[in-house]
Amino acid sequence: MSLDAANRLDKRMLIDGEWTDADDRIAVTNPYDGTAVGSVPLASTSLVNEAIEAADHAHRASTLSAYERYELLAAAAAELEARADDVATIITSEQGKPISEARTEVDRAVQTLQLSGEEAKRMFGEYIPMDGQKGFAKDHCFTQHEPLGVVAAITPFNFPLNLMVHKVGPALAAGNAVVGKPASNTPLSSIVLFECLEAASEDIGAPDGLVNIVTGSGSTVGDAFLDHEAVEAISFTGSTDVGTYLANNSGMKELTLELGGNDPTIVWDDTDIEQAAEQLISGACSNAGQVCNSVERILVHEDIEAELIDALVEAAKSLTIGDPMNEATDVAAMIDDDQFQTVVDLLKMTIDEGATVECGGGYGDNLGTRVFEPTVLSGVTSEMPAAKEEVFGPLVPVISVSDFDEAIEEANTTNYGLEAGLFTQDIDRAKRAADEIDAGGVNINTVSGFRADHMPYGGFKDSGVGKEGIKYAVDHFSREKLVGFHRG
Ligand code: NAD
Repeated sequence: MSLDAANRLDKRMLIDGEWTDADDRIAVTNPYDGTAVGSVPLASTSLVNEAIEAADHAHRASTLSAYERYELLAAAAAELEARADDVATIITSEQGKPISEARTEVDRAVQTLQLSGEEAKRMFGEYIPMDGQKGFAKDHCFTQHEPLGVVAAITPFNFPLNLMVHKVGPALAAGNAVVGKPASNTPLSSIVLFECLEAASEDIGAPDGLVNIVTGSGSTVGDAFLDHEAVEAISFTGSTDVGTYLANNSGMKELTLELGGNDPTIVWDDTDIEQAAEQLISGACSNAGQVCNSVERILVHEDIEAELIDALVEAAKSLTIGDPMNEATDVAAMIDDDQFQTVVDLLKMTIDEGATVECGGGYGDNLGTRVFEPTVLSGVTSEMPAAKEEVFGPLVPVISVSDFDEAIEEANTTNYGLEAGLFTQDIDRAKRAADEIDAGGVNINTVSGFRADHMPYGGFKDSGVGKEGIKYAVDHFSREKLVGFHRG
């Protein structure tokens, strides 16, 4: 049963070990049926500053060893796992994704926390052989990693739990204190995460304020993070517009930006078309297409275009659409009216420019509020809106290409460069795609959306700066200090 009026969640922020309220609150509603499912405080700048200062104080006071940080994260993972069913229901209720996908997200978040704990024990430095340079043979030199201090974590709505874990887990593993800021439409599951972290912190004897979460307007909280000198790093996942604003205003702070994408997947004429089609439809339609590295553009060899479109239509029609709490549902509601209307408009404009709807094309009405049918579009060119823009919805535009040069050129046409996919049996073609596609990840024989949580992950061009993936985030959230020993 999803959250409703009878079991709504009215949560508070965690600041300096206290569950704290504010004068005003933000309502959280179920995107599928519009039910009010809870609320969270609307933080003022001064409350955000309190959280930052508590984190700064806790970081300075903390004496946790790497092993204790491992224990903290392992205990939080165990607590989250124990609450997995409830947390999955919360994710579906606040975000609208199918319950089976919400369960997968919780499972991934538990693992991401566990792996972060393991990484705390592996913050190795390096011994530098000083006799490599003339005159230094008697000297010794090594590096050690230290935490940065306060890490601020800002997350989007589409994976409200696991994307927060991707920041907070590695930041704590590296010995930092954290202040989290979830998206305002999906804050509840992140707050549950902080309940787990707080319980684990208390058990381990960590100082109050090591873990904090604030909720509120993006610009109020974001500006407080930018303005406060105790915030050493901001880790942001969200739109390219907000990411650009942070990049332009962050001064000397460390910044990780995981931003938008318009990811291509190339399908070549030597591949198993049915298998590819299933992965493509799943990659384009999971979370109703609201995934940063989803299949946004299919670039298919013209000789297999017709066959691939048939297979895509069959795979799309096999999906179950509707109530996200139904175990069988594959495609449910989009997050809000704005996102929904944007996808409706993109579809209409793309049809007006000459694309053909091969299946789907329906939305709203009897399908359910903000539910959009998986929609396969043929005859698409890279100039049409559904191909040119980042589409956060279940549209599947198919672009025909005649040779591999054209496929690579099309893949690189957008300003984004998050991930890409290629289906082929030919190793040379695979290597060429890996070398020539301008994206942070190139996945062979699968779709752009392939991601395991410990992989390095992060885009090029307008898709971002820096890498996530546990080990890479731990590196990013720590600084490397040189220690030199001189013998005269
Ligand atoms: P968004 O940029 O609107 O919001 C993301 C977060 O930023 C929210 O918490 C929001 O409150 C906050 N925010 C808003 N204005 C801010 C400001 N001025 N300063 C600081 N924070 C501010 O994004 P969204 O609609 O929640 O998510 C969708 C976007 O996120 C898409 O573009 C998607 O591609 C991207 N995304 C990227 C990745 C990735 O790993 N690259 C993953 C998921 C989503």
